[in-house]
Amino acid sequence: MIDVLQKQLSASGVKLIAVSKTYPPENILAAYAEGCRDFGENKVQELVDKYEILPKDIQWHVIGHLQTNKVKYIAPFVAMIHSVDSLRLFAEINKQGAKHNRQIPCLLQFFIAEEDTKFGLDWEEAVELLESPEFADFKHVIIAGVMGMASFTENQEQVRREFNTLKQYFERLKKTYFANQPTFKEISMGMSGDWELAVEAGSTMVRIGSAIFGTRTKT
Ligand SMILES: *Cc1c(COP(=O)(O)O)cnc(C)c1O
Repeated sequence: MIDVLQKQLSASGVKLIAVSKTYPPENILAAYAEGCRDFGENKVQELVDKYEILPKDIQWHVIGHLQTNKVKYIAPFVAMIHSVDSLRLFAEINKQGAKHNRQIPCLLQFFIAEEDTKFGLDWEEAVELLESPEFADFKHVIIAGVMGMASFTENQEQVRREFNTLKQYFERLKKTYFANQPTFKEISMGMSGDWELAVEAGSTMVRIGSAIFGTRTKT
């Protein structure tokens, strides 16, 4: 499965993040053996445990809500944090990045679904964050793009609309705030059930778990 998926995606220039949350290290190693190097996790403890025992050339992506007090555990090695949705979290990532003398790639998580969730920025909140004076001083984060999750629905038109919204946010931000910054380039959208729609809408990174590893029994 994963090799077919990887071929299909790399043909469209889209990076596959294999979402390995809840799956044991053996599953990760099997995907690794097929050439996958990017894995996504949503719990810090689980991520650190896996990082410690698995090959060091794996790129680890944090895709779930991240508590400020947990940033320090992943700051030395995390490849990208997809789920940044507050100035407070940015400030902590910046602080930990400074401690480890690195710039940590982050995505701005937007709320695009018609569902109740606490996570993700709307357009006004993102603007407020990017224009805040504190933000201008952060030297140890790189805003590499945007991330979003579409509604969990069979309605393909709705999912398409939500992905298009994220793509538009990306383009507006790029024009307004990142015009001369080639590092602002990622649109992280698309999961097992909707990645094809996401790729059509301009995704550059898809986060796929169950379609690779099988249905999750834990959450
Ligand atoms: C779990 C998760 C995924 C992957 O979900 P699947 O449906 O298993 O592909 C992608 N993104 C986020 C933020 C997740 O939490």
